[in-house]
Amino acid sequence: MKRSLLVIICCLLATNCFCWGFYAHKKINYYAVFLLPPEMMVLYKPNIDFLEEHAVDPDKRRYAVADEGPKHYIDIDHYGTYPYPNLPRKWKDVVDKFGEDSVREYGIVPWHIQTMLYRLTDAFKEKNFARIMRNSAEIGHYIADSHVPLHANSNHNGQYTNQKGIHGFWESRVPELLADSKFDFFIGKAQYIDRPGEYTWARVLESALASDSVLRFERELTKQFGADQKYSFETRNGVVIRQYSSTFTNAFNNKLDGMVERRMRLSIASIASFWYTAWVNAGQPDLKGLANQKLTEADLKEFEKLNNSWKSTDKMIGRQEE
Ligand SMILES: [Zn+2]
Repeated sequence: MKRSLLVIICCLLATNCFCWGFYAHKKINYYAVFLLPPEMMVLYKPNIDFLEEHAVDPDKRRYAVADEGPKHYIDIDHYGTYPYPNLPRKWKDVVDKFGEDSVREYGIVPWHIQTMLYRLTDAFKEKNFARIMRNSAEIGHYIADSHVPLHANSNHNGQYTNQKGIHGFWESRVPELLADSKFDFFIGKAQYIDRPGEYTWARVLESALASDSVLRFERELTKQFGADQKYSFETRNGVVIRQYSSTFTNAFNNKLDGMVERRMRLSIASIASFWYTAWVNAGQPDLKGLANQKLTEADLKEFEKLNNSWKSTDKMIGRQEE
């Protein structure tokens, strides 16, 4: 293959990767709906397409808004080693200690989830259909990101260890190849979360701990496989793309002992539980009357604007995750 063509192919591969991948984010929000109690299901089930489609809005916004990126990750190793005793868990404390600019630079996903929880709770109190839907879809995104190991590690795309591409490999390629045929998404019920802050930090610490295995296992398998078996070429929409081969992807998934499925399942359970917690904290408003409401013209215009700005560029603002 000519070198120039190979470059085009690699670029295509690079610009098509997102956190958890669009595919997984949509699936995760979708399945979360089925864990809700009937009083919530009455609103969420008829609007499941919205929750699925808008699961990826925060990633689209990363192409248009400069301060969006840090809401999706935390480079927690910047703060020392596990379990990071020098990192204050409360926003005010961490900002007092390190300054807001620095905290934002290394990522704020655990704190942003709390902000989103307040927004969703307020939306329930107001019984505001559009705000409930939008904030439900978007908190789902940030919660799911916090379950991804490489969203809690500064070596987020293996860029320091010659493993570029591993970000999309774990969160896009593995679920796209295996979720439909092999993963089980039958998961109990949403649970009320007494301490959402502590709950989120527990998930983020799990992610941080798992990130070392993710990087190490890929390195070990690469040694075993060699480049010709690691990658394969496939035609998608008439374009040849290079991707991790099915054999390599399966071997990685086996070595991780089902970690991607486990984190996906936990993401689903966590999202449903946050939705449920927000509703309970808002006083369990009756949602029956909201079920058939529609979005306003202004809402639809805003979504269209976001979509257009996302389609018009392939450059993420801030750090890249391809
Ligand atoms: Zn994201």
